[in-house]
Amino acid sequence: MFKKIIIIGGGIAGLALANFLKKSNFNNFKLYEKLEKKISRTTGIQLTPNAVRILDFLDSKFFLNNLFHKINYLSINPANFKNFSSKLEVRINLQNIVSDKMPYLTCDRNILLKFLEKDLSQKEILYNKQVIGTTKDHNIIRVKFSDGSEDYCDLLISADGMFSKSRLDNNIIKNTNFYAYRGIIKNFYSKYSLENDAIRLWLSGNKHLVTYFINNHNDLSFTGVSKSADKTIYSSEDVNYSIPFPADQFRSLFSSENKILRETLDTLHEVYRWPIFSLKKRVFYRDNQIFIGDSSHGTVPFQAQGAALAIEDAYVLHEQIIKQVSNNLGVFYFNKRNSRVRKIILRSHLNVFLFHLKNPFLIILRSIFFKIIAKFFLVKKLMFGWIFNYNPRSSSYFF
Ligand SMILES: Cc1cc2nc3c(=O)[nH]c(=O)nc-3n(C[C@H](O)[C@H](O)[C@H](O)COP(=O)(O)OP(=O)(O)OC[C@H]3O[C@@H](n4cnc5c(N)ncnc54)[C@H](O)[C@@H]3O)c2cc1C
Repeated sequence: MFKKIIIIGGGIAGLALANFLKKSNFNNFKLYEKLEKKISRTTGIQLTPNAVRILDFLDSKFFLNNLFHKINYLSINPANFKNFSSKLEVRINLQNIVSDKMPYLTCDRNILLKFLEKDLSQKEILYNKQVIGTTKDHNIIRVKFSDGSEDYCDLLISADGMFSKSRLDNNIIKNTNFYAYRGIIKNFYSKYSLENDAIRLWLSGNKHLVTYFINNHNDLSFTGVSKSADKTIYSSEDVNYSIPFPADQFRSLFSSENKILRETLDTLHEVYRWPIFSLKKRVFYRDNQIFIGDSSHGTVPFQAQGAALAIEDAYVLHEQIIKQVSNNLGVFYFNKRNSRVRKIILRSHLNVFLFHLKNPFLIILRSIFFKIIAKFFLVKKLMFGWIFNYNPRSSSYFF
């Protein structure tokens, strides 16, 4: 059994792991987060049923709380047609592949972080503590902080995100040349009476846009993704997430003939932009150091699975720790996670290709493909079932 665990990083992966350890009565852990605890700008996040199922282990029926918003449909639309026609929209009903018990949710990311922080004490999670280095002495890992202090553990968990310094291998970070443009429109009422239980996907050439409501106050999250000609290589330090991007530039970049999309673009005021990165390879463990979340397998966010995978990682890893797998923990964990993570990354990359088609013939084929998914339950189940119905307890699937 491990004597003491240190978790680096208080994002979704690190917080989820701390919660699972605590819930299983493993109390000798510390989570260090380099930032101060503060509520950041509202951004939307999708929580698919595979993530909801695991969070439900922490707090049964947490989603009945009206801070989380239920999604029933995926609506796929071409962005370039003048009039919104129901013939061009493909509506995928998610209700028969997700359930009331394990719904598909959206929320403000801050709400999710607060939910994951609420049961951790100040002794368990320490803010403003930046890890600057680690050294190994036999089975003990010494962790050094920027304020000069140190701590020790016999299992180190890196949950420090895509730009993980503790991975010691930043050559594997790849700039994808995509930019994400994100924002929230508060209290958005459409004159076209949009249902608020749908995720809308707008597809257009080399860009796409996703919109969804994140609560019952009609706050609408939008995320535009477009390829950039800018080949600058960024590092984590270069990316400033808090500088607004000019809204007019965003409007002209995503300008559309579609009246619903135009209404959305005309209403928004604030947009933030940042480059999208991915890792060239997955890293699950090194000696008695384990990687979870984006530090292990950060990828393009086009299947909305990054946070969900982080939550799955945390659950599966905590189960191995509690089962007292101390020899070869990394190998056990790798065997449980590698294949699923690889498949989800492949799907995320396939979506880049599908969402950004330009060739009219391929666009027609894509539309037929989406209609088949929408119409035939078994095809829908084949496309989404394995993502949503993952059973982390046995790393198998619910049917
Ligand atoms: C545009 C966009 C939209 C997305 N939408 C979705 C979605 O809808 N659904 C979904 O499931 N996923 C989504 N994702 C992906 C998801 O946000 C990430 O995969 C997820 O947040 C990763 O969590 P993490 O905890 O691994 O990493 P992070 O959230 O990056 O957390 C890492 C933490 O470690 C801390 N840290 C870093 N270095 C140190 C250090 N040296 N010392 C101490 N602390 C440190 C950081 O401050 C940070 O708090 C999206 C991503 C993007 C870019």
